[in-house]
Amino acid sequence: MSTVPTSQVVANQGRTTGGLIYIVILGIVGVGIAAASWTWEFGFCGYGIAGFFVFMFGLGMVRTTTQGGAWKADCPGCGATLTSDEHPFGMRAFKVVRCGACGEWWGGTELLQPLDIDYVHNDPIFEAKAALPLTWPDGCARCGEPATGTVGLTAVSDAANLASAAGVTTLGGTHIDVPVCSKHRQTPVSVRTTGDKIGVEFRSYRIFCQFKELNAGPEAGAAD
Ligand SMILES: [Zn+2]
Ligand SMILES: [Zn+2]
Repeated sequence: MSTVPTSQVVANQGRTTGGLIYIVILGIVGVGIAAASWTWEFGFCGYGIAGFFVFMFGLGMVRTTTQGGAWKADCPGCGATLTSDEHPFGMRAFKVVRCGACGEWWGGTELLQPLDIDYVHNDPIFEAKAALPLTWPDGCARCGEPATGTVGLTAVSDAANLASAAGVTTLGGTHIDVPVCSKHRQTPVSVRTTGDKIGVEFRSYRIFCQFKELNAGPEAGAAD
């Protein structure tokens, strides 16, 4: 029986305190600008800027108190430090986290563990890099149900400007046919190119894993 790697999420009190100090400074600056606007009659513009600062103060306070402040954890796989600086904020929030060191995905609120294979995110956050031609898993690229057709997507190049400036051929504009079911004809995945690689961004963790396996070229494991 193999043990599932897990890791406890702990409060990052130093970060939370630092964040609160910053938020309180925003509030004080906001009140200061409002007072100055009243004293020297800066008019509507002054109050608008003051309002923005006070709004950011309120937003920060609500976010910190409702979501329980900053957190940190060791990666259950490789032990690298994961923090709310680079990942979803908040002790109380369900976190979906990719370790930048080992590339594995983890999920959990107080305990990070291997992400549930059936997990589906609201946004396409699971990015798999692959070289053309792409091999798609059986079924819809969004949900895995039997595919009833394909939709054509055009890859957006991350580095289009950079690449053309350097005289490098870019894959931006590459047309790709993505298998879909009848429910998911609208942007089943996002496709972008970086250098000579296609990056496909999935919502479904399962389809992402299958896609990655099917498109694992000789160099696919490296640094992605
Ligand atoms: Zn790791
Ligand atoms: Zn579907």
